[in-house]
Amino acid sequence: MLSEDRIIHNYFRTAGAERSDVCVGIGDDAAVLEPPPGRNLVAAVDTLNEGVHFPAATQPAAIGHRALAVNLSDLAAMGAEPAWATLSLCLPAPDEAWLEGFADGFRALARQHGVALVGGDTTRGPLSVSVQLLGWLRPGEALTRAGAKPGDGVYVTGHLGGAAAGLRLLLEGRASTSEPLTRAFLWPEPRVAIGQDLCGLASAAIDLSDGLGTDLPRLLAASGAGASLDPEQLPLAPAALALLGASAAREGALAGGDDYELCFTVPAEAEDELAARAVNWSTPVTRIGCVEASPGLRFSGEAEPAKLPEGWRHFEEKGS
Ligand code: ADP
Ligand code: MG
Repeated sequence: MLSEDRIIHNYFRTAGAERSDVCVGIGDDAAVLEPPPGRNLVAAVDTLNEGVHFPAATQPAAIGHRALAVNLSDLAAMGAEPAWATLSLCLPAPDEAWLEGFADGFRALARQHGVALVGGDTTRGPLSVSVQLLGWLRPGEALTRAGAKPGDGVYVTGHLGGAAAGLRLLLEGRASTSEPLTRAFLWPEPRVAIGQDLCGLASAAIDLSDGLGTDLPRLLAASGAGASLDPEQLPLAPAALALLGASAAREGALAGGDDYELCFTVPAEAEDELAARAVNWSTPVTRIGCVEASPGLRFSGEAEPAKLPEGWRHFEEKGS
């Protein structure tokens, strides 16, 4: 049976990028890290529980990828540069094939983004993966949810609704790893470079973990504003459109979570600059609406608030 020390040595010592700003990494009682002078530290943590955030029997490499990806997406939404991660892993049993797959999935994404794994904790219990991610940004440059102003354009990166459709296929046992919807759920691509490029340009930003219909109102509430959306402009995931048809695909784009795209607002005078920067991005960006003074979310041309399907919520408020 693998000991905790063996697990750490075999699978986690090399599960991230090498960085010269890690003074003490895995193997001591705590990590010692050296942030660059004059930067603000940015910290995020997200936990994935089996059966809640991913179906039981999800391939371990995808779990490793997703556990880091959801945190990278949070840092992307702040415009931060990621640097260091810690990993708290709760395992039912020390299964070597599982650990190898998990570490492979984590490592590939960590190296892609230059993230070092600097510590963690390994315990026994129901499968649960918690990653904390640290990074930094220049003081005053954080992209917060507050700051959207009436007249700003509302934008999203990539396509929406693919991950929710992929999760449905997985739960129905109809998923295949070569198919784009399943991939969208299992292997989200956090928009880290785009988030950093939005610093000094976007007035507010949020990442789409719970669905546009839930996350955009969070941004608007923080900004003390509302918005009108053009439902025809929503960039629906092409495979979701083909599988589900327009109406269900649109519902998935609004209510389905797990897309990990960025939603952000840009002042009218900066929209040309946005278009110029977006030419270099790995994914398209789409203008889906406009910020307005009146609170709430409307579909364009309608005065009444949109009846939006709600995204995923863990703890519903009673009576809502
Ligand atoms: P302690 O009991 O002092 O907390 P541990 O035995 O838990 O020490 O951990 C030993 C070292 O291995 C520490 O540096 C810790 O950060 C690291 N570590 C433990 N589990 C993990 C993990 N899942 N991923 C990365 N590092 C880990
Ligand atoms: Mg410990």
